[in-house]
Amino acid sequence: MILECRHIYKTYIQGKLEVPVLKDVNFCMDEGEYVAIMGPSGSGKSTLMNLIGCLDKPTRGELFLDGKDVSRLSDNELADLRLEKIGFVFQNFQLLPYMTALENVELPLTYAGLSKKERQRIAGEALERVGLGDRMNFRPNQLSGGQKQRTAIARAIANHPKIILADEPTGALDSKSGSQVMELFQELNREGSTVLMITHDAGIGARAARMVEIRDGILYLPGQEADAERKLKEEEEKIAEREGGFADET
Ligand code: ADP
Ligand code: MG
Repeated sequence: MILECRHIYKTYIQGKLEVPVLKDVNFCMDEGEYVAIMGPSGSGKSTLMNLIGCLDKPTRGELFLDGKDVSRLSDNELADLRLEKIGFVFQNFQLLPYMTALENVELPLTYAGLSKKERQRIAGEALERVGLGDRMNFRPNQLSGGQKQRTAIARAIANHPKIILADEPTGALDSKSGSQVMELFQELNREGSTVLMITHDAGIGARAARMVEIRDGILYLPGQEADAERKLKEEEEKIAEREGGFADET
């Protein structure tokens, strides 16, 4: 098992207000799987992705990535784990504008202690892999949206991560380049990469081998809808109780 979320909760604190975003999320992924988490805007997709991607920690619950309990690691250990095991792809590409495609892809390899030559070779191979062998020395503003995202995918796969995480990777693309990017993920998965994608687009989600839904911070696994409904009801009752409590005080 590459990923295991056990009873994950995430609550943001906004001033005096608690904002519960993820509510008892349980989710597993095996190595080699291609899963899409689908849900409307605001349902907690990016919040969950940031936890899985070691960019943030859960408020409660356990998160195992490749056998390691992420919730127990220090910030430095988290950063190391992220570099070693995770390839991140974002909606807005997150490329550095003053660097070429090759330099952007090279960047995360800098931390792996490789020589410049070795880094360039690996980055070049990754760009070839995504069909951008002829664009290595272009800067992001000289690339189309689809090419930018493929550069970002090259950067994500360059160090052969254990899992590729993609947060709405086609959200900023027209349908044709979006489709090409989706094909690329499918190919990478066929070649053995583990891919977890989040999207609000059912058409995109349906292209993954397995799809799970998230609504209001509750994950709906196929076959466990009744369980999820019960959780939602409990959650609503708790809120009603709390609000009832406030009403009594005034
Ligand atoms: P999605 O990616 O599905 O659109 P997000 O995970 O970005 O949803 O956000 C889910 C909810 O959490 C939203 O209601 C959002 O306002 C809230 N939220 C996200 N990040 C923060 C934060 N840093 N502080 C407070 N609330 C947040
Ligand atoms: Mg989001």
